[in-house]
Amino acid sequence: MTDMPGIVITGASGRMGRMLVQSVASSDACRLVGALERPGHDWIGRDVGDAMGGAALGVAVTDDPVAAFAQAQAVIDFSAPAATVQFAGLAAQARAVHVIGTTGLSAADIDAIDRAAHHAVIVRAGNMSLGVNLLTLLTRKVAAALDADFDIEIIEAHHRHKVDAPSGTALMLGEAAAQGRGVDLADVRDSGRDGMTGARKRGDIGFHAVRGGDIVGDHDVLFAADGEQITLRHRATDRSVFARGALKAALWGQDKTPGHYDMLNVLGL
Ligand code: NAD
Repeated sequence: MTDMPGIVITGASGRMGRMLVQSVASSDACRLVGALERPGHDWIGRDVGDAMGGAALGVAVTDDPVAAFAQAQAVIDFSAPAATVQFAGLAAQARAVHVIGTTGLSAADIDAIDRAAHHAVIVRAGNMSLGVNLLTLLTRKVAAALDADFDIEIIEAHHRHKVDAPSGTALMLGEAAAQGRGVDLADVRDSGRDGMTGARKRGDIGFHAVRGGDIVGDHDVLFAADGEQITLRHRATDRSVFARGALKAALWGQDKTPGHYDMLNVLGL
């Protein structure tokens, strides 16, 4: 029982944090050893189960990542970019597997995470669901099979609280499409047209973000040519798909050598 990996959840009061606390607490493959929130949060010091409005879980919410990570074999982190970069260094020092679901990371943030991955296992993915990771493979294949007569547009929809756009998943899909075409996404990315944009440029990959209500996460990859269109679609209706993937990644990472991995590695795809 006690040799089950101990897991810390960051951003415990967040939409994903709550889901992850529940998933870890009810898992028979790992145990909850910590719950982290930002300094000043009103959950600090309270039992996390209690704070969530359920039964006590015997874990007090803390704002001290060093103390929390010292007891952990894995840190599951769906928080915010600045926090995630700090946690990558601290989790590596504690030799804990760091599972990163946070999106909106800059190139400099990813460089910092890469440096931490020299010392510990990091699994990072803009989407932890099995379905979306399969969709990235399909997108790469379809993009490789079709030429630039097919315009690629990625259309995503999320709840009204989401702070970054396009979504991490949309960017994953864009990267997959660009890889399939053998081009660099940075050279062909065209985000959110508005005004007198001129005609669409051949070979561009377009991104469009819809925000509203409680949409968990929808992604369409459209391949549109003269006379025919193909759409690849994923629709998440429950955040538990992301939590399930994150837990799987935390357990998968336990016996791996240090490095920066993604969900395709975890899922063996
Ligand atoms: P949210 O705003 O509901 O939760 C984020 C939580 O992180 C908040 O409770 C906030 O207080 C906490 N936080 C911020 N700074 C912190 C710090 N320094 N220390 C500890 N906690 C801190 O957001 P959410 O909807 O749960 O999403 C969180 C992140 O996960 C976003 O970047 C989102 O895009 C991403 N996400 C990824 C996936 C995936 O599969 N990869 C799925 C869903 C969401």
